[in-house]
Amino acid sequence: MTPPHGHAAADPGARPPGAVAPALVDAWADDPLVAPLLRRAPRWVYARGPAIGIGRLLVGFVVLAVVASMKIARHRPPDLPAPNPGTAPLLVAALLAVLAVLTAMLSRRLWDRWSTMLYPAGALVVLGAASAAIDHDAGLWSGLIPLTFVYTGLFHQRWASLALLPLAWWAESSGFRDLSITEDYRLLVHGVAWVVTGVALSTLRAHQRISRARLAELSVTDPLTGLGNRRGLEQRLSGLAAGDCVVICDFDRFKDLNDAFGHAAGDEMIALFGSTVRRVLLPDDYAARYGGEEFALVLAHTSVADAVDAVDTLRMAWLARDPAVTFSAGIAAYDGTGDGLAALTEADRALYLAKESGRDQSRTGSTG
Ligand code: GH3
Ligand code: MG
Ligand code: MG
Repeated sequence: MTPPHGHAAADPGARPPGAVAPALVDAWADDPLVAPLLRRAPRWVYARGPAIGIGRLLVGFVVLAVVASMKIARHRPPDLPAPNPGTAPLLVAALLAVLAVLTAMLSRRLWDRWSTMLYPAGALVVLGAASAAIDHDAGLWSGLIPLTFVYTGLFHQRWASLALLPLAWWAESSGFRDLSITEDYRLLVHGVAWVVTGVALSTLRAHQRISRARLAELSVTDPLTGLGNRRGLEQRLSGLAAGDCVVICDFDRFKDLNDAFGHAAGDEMIALFGSTVRRVLLPDDYAARYGGEEFALVLAHTSVADAVDAVDTLRMAWLARDPAVTFSAGIAAYDGTGDGLAALTEADRALYLAKESGRDQSRTGSTG
């Protein structure tokens, strides 16, 4: 048989029609760490996203901490040699220039992904410059350095923490006149601890992202068939476009099959129907099991005539599996007026007509 509008030619390995892309939820809205911090901040701080919002808080906090403790840090024991000559501003200027050149060289995509690394980098430049200006108290602010790795772990890939390490080392050591052997060791030990902190956080974040996506997918998936469930169908129907068709399929006298062969055999039929639908529909189409033995299909950009052909193809594929039950179908086109649920109701009405007319057939709704 010639496949109607290509439905039978669907690639069996394509994404199952029931498995819609996970719902677009704001990944940070209920984040236990980031959301409470941002909720307390003024709106302009986080208006351009959580990574920028938290980055601003980080730099703001570091600058505030340094400024607030500057007076203590400037208190110089009389027996200490004179402080470093004023190389710090030059160093900071040079670093900022390098950062500016590097960021200008980045492609737009890379820039989008990496630009927020400027926040921890900027915080480290502030810490390093302040330490260099007040050499004898260089250790005073090194406790703030881990915050920059926490930020990097929260918002960037694993190895971003490693990329931050040279700058963190510079910030830590900038105030020391001579690096002794023990200072070298200190830098090494601290460096390991910082990177481990950042990598641990980004690893946990990556795992959290995967689990969240998996949960979002499960929440719209029917476990028996792997098609969408009622929630998934509602989501799909809310995005229905004029020119789409909605189909409801319902097994004929399914109760009799359950009574004759048992509920488990009935479940097997339902699962088999799910796999048949997956094989027949195109990747743009959508299928859900939204009742016990009722299935809803959304055929994207499909006329009523093509939808009838598609359901015929499904019927042929179903019969080829030698099932113990037939199905009836109601088809309705969506013309863009009203909501998707109205189209579903229309398909349900057509299904009723199919049942009335003797079952094992398709009928189209009045809008079709
Ligand atoms: P009709 O041709 O009029 O549709 O007759 P029917 O017996 O199929 O009636 P209906 O569509 O109302 O189907 C209801 C029956 O479907 C009741 C129940 O036995 C069966 N059923 C509903 N959900 C499930 C399920 O999850 N598993 C199994 N095995 N059976 C189910
Ligand atoms: Mg039925
Ligand atoms: Mg039913």
